[in-house]
Amino acid sequence: MATLTDCLQVVTDSDGARATGVVLRQDGIEHRVQSDTVAVCAGLPGSAMLLRKSRTGRHPEGLGNAGGALGRYLGAHSVGMIFPFVSWRSLPPTHTKSFAINDYYDGAPDWPYPVGVIQTGGQTPFWEGASRAIRPIAHFVGHHAITCFYMTEALPSRDTGLIFKDDGTSTRVDAIPNPKTFARLRTLALGAFHRAGYRALARRRPPYQWHEVGTARFGDDPATSVADPNCQVHGIQGLFVVDASILPSSTLPISSGQTGRSPPSRCAAYGVEDAVQFRSDRFRHVSGFGRHDDTLKPEMPA
Ligand SMILES: Cc1cc2nc3c(=O)[nH]c(=O)nc-3n(C[C@H](O)[C@H](O)[C@H](O)COP(=O)(O)OP(=O)(O)OC[C@H]3O[C@@H](n4cnc5c(N)ncnc54)[C@H](O)[C@@H]3O)c2cc1C
Repeated sequence: MATLTDCLQVVTDSDGARATGVVLRQDGIEHRVQSDTVAVCAGLPGSAMLLRKSRTGRHPEGLGNAGGALGRYLGAHSVGMIFPFVSWRSLPPTHTKSFAINDYYDGAPDWPYPVGVIQTGGQTPFWEGASRAIRPIAHFVGHHAITCFYMTEALPSRDTGLIFKDDGTSTRVDAIPNPKTFARLRTLALGAFHRAGYRALARRRPPYQWHEVGTARFGDDPATSVADPNCQVHGIQGLFVVDASILPSSTLPISSGQTGRSPPSRCAAYGVEDAVQFRSDRFRHVSGFGRHDDTLKPEMPA
């Protein structure tokens, strides 16, 4: 485990067909680490940016970007807040993340399309961030209502995500918000709490985009994806993407953090787990890292 360390680049062989290691920077010093298996897990937008920065003559637009899919297909959840009032007495600061309503996952009356999920979000002092004018109201809501959210999918497309310029990005296009379904879900959420006997407050406002996924998605076709279904980057042996950026869409009803556990499972099933386990002999051969042996102890797999 190398903490406080940036990964600057994934290195590939001269044919660009195989991963050979990474370049890391720690305390301002760059180190080259050799490995025949590299699992990139820098999240969004970190993984896509890293693959872009690792471009070579063989991969001029970035690793896994032969089809132009790197950075694209950004998906997310469209999220709105809803506050069912449950008590005239002030609620204690308890965490309430304990239920979800998934009845509208596949659609709803008068709405044939998948809609989304309604769930508790946990009590947070959100009123502290409110403007002075509405802080007293927000404080009242926060102490008498449960904080819930309703969440549908913001859709990925070829046009959503990052447009690269050199080592950075020139533009970022949000996932497509799906406003009619989002509005329908708000109505359904209000109705569900009303039928349960609770008045609820849900402001009409544009959705928040949470739980982003994509930008290095997996799929069968290199023209529309960065990695194959086992998370291995198309055309580059030993290079894997293992985080939320590999997911082709932000599934409902599960948040991306939870869904993000599936790429490691996929890779483990593929045999990558054994390959990426840190081997102490290799660690000692890393140029420069030997200096830090006291602080950077290699962790042997259990
Ligand atoms: C406020 C908030 C609340 C959330 N709540 C929930 C929830 O309730 N449930 C849920 O399921 N999900 C939730 N999520 C989403 C969830 O946190 C993410 O989907 C999940 O963390 C993504 O995991 P990841 O491994 O893809 O990336 P990350 O968790 O982002 O990890 C990537 C890591 O890589 C590091 N990194 C990036 N670039 C480099 C580099 N070049 N070199 C070295 N390191 C690098 C980053 O510093 C980071 O530590 C929430 C997200 C936010 C922001």
